[in-house]
Amino acid sequence: MNTKTDKYKFQTRTIHGEKPHKNSKNALNPPIYQTSTFTFDTIDDARKVMSFESSDYVYTRGNNPTLRLLEQRVSSLEDGKAAVTFSSGMAAISSVLLSLLNSKDKIIAHQTLYGSAHSFIKSFLPKYGISAVFADLTQENTLDNLFDEDVKVVYFETPSNPTLDIIDIEKIAKIAHKHNCKVVIDNTFATPFFQKPLNFGADVVVHSATKFLNGHGDVIAGIAVSNDVDYINYLKFEYMCELGGVLNPFDAWLILRGLKTLALRMREHNKNAGLVAEFLQKQSLVKKVYYPGLKSFKGYEIAKKQMSGFGAIIGFEIDGDKNNAEKFVENLKLAKLAVSLGDSETLVEFPAAMTHFNLTDNELHKIGLSKSFIRIAVGLEDADDIINDFDRALKAINSGQ
Ligand code: PLP
Repeated sequence: MNTKTDKYKFQTRTIHGEKPHKNSKNALNPPIYQTSTFTFDTIDDARKVMSFESSDYVYTRGNNPTLRLLEQRVSSLEDGKAAVTFSSGMAAISSVLLSLLNSKDKIIAHQTLYGSAHSFIKSFLPKYGISAVFADLTQENTLDNLFDEDVKVVYFETPSNPTLDIIDIEKIAKIAHKHNCKVVIDNTFATPFFQKPLNFGADVVVHSATKFLNGHGDVIAGIAVSNDVDYINYLKFEYMCELGGVLNPFDAWLILRGLKTLALRMREHNKNAGLVAEFLQKQSLVKKVYYPGLKSFKGYEIAKKQMSGFGAIIGFEIDGDKNNAEKFVENLKLAKLAVSLGDSETLVEFPAAMTHFNLTDNELHKIGLSKSFIRIAVGLEDADDIINDFDRALKAINSGQ
């Protein structure tokens, strides 16, 4: 049966993808091709594959049927044309940026980014002659002035980690393209279930597939997607292959399994996060809540335009000093203190001390990230239990526990 999957709706496409490899014996679930290398029947077969005349396989750090299936699946979910998987989100981000930038080029990045992405742009790229300009991309009216002929890439996350800044993808892409720049967007927080940046003009979408795409906290992985098939081949064979950040087939298989419930999970995450955000907003001990689904949130209107849901991540500040925030976290019983997000379990963290510890006080101040800012990755537990856990931990702040 020849399945033309592109006509199916998103939820169906998380489950049904391209036809599995010809040797898969019609298994319902794809086999894991746990092999580093592939054999050839003849030298002519080998020559055809090496010269890209045939799309058969050579070596897993170039291609593998399990990786290819995952690449096709995620590319279809992002409404893209091709994708390449990586051994981590950072391998995807670093390889994409290195592939689009040369010595003497410049990158404009949003001022609030995941900590390692920020330090890669701020400290790593300049060692290779690439300079970085960090700006507030929510102020798109001031962006035009930042461009000169050296700027080649604009990079951002929307929503951003951890302050949930919402950036207007369509507006930024228009400005960047006017200046012949590529737009690279980290879509980890929203996932393609809620937001498809390629449809708003992004050139490349990157993910930490470690998070919602896999969804079960047992894999580290990354992926880059684009509508430009030649670019993805270039990224795969000149960067992923040469830098070596290849994903292993078993992890690709786990992500394929996790993807089958992406739509269900994201709907439930979104529902729970909305309830938690509303609860937090009503608490006298909570100073400010950051969640794109709150009407009072700065990015709400843009989020509504480019996202079909607001996701699982909430930030908030507790009244008083850092001790109050620490007391709150130490009194949580259900939610766990951890750096990651996108899992079934509700996870909380202090970005200033954990994922963003490498930002200076000055940088933290500039992006408005207070030391008592708490990030919550709302999980899939019953919302009542999550809220009761937060309620009890908030009450414990003043009870001397
Ligand atoms: N992008 C975002 C938004 C993240 O939150 C993270 C990790 O937390 C990354 C990228 C990096 O991904 P990985 O840990 O898979 O390398």
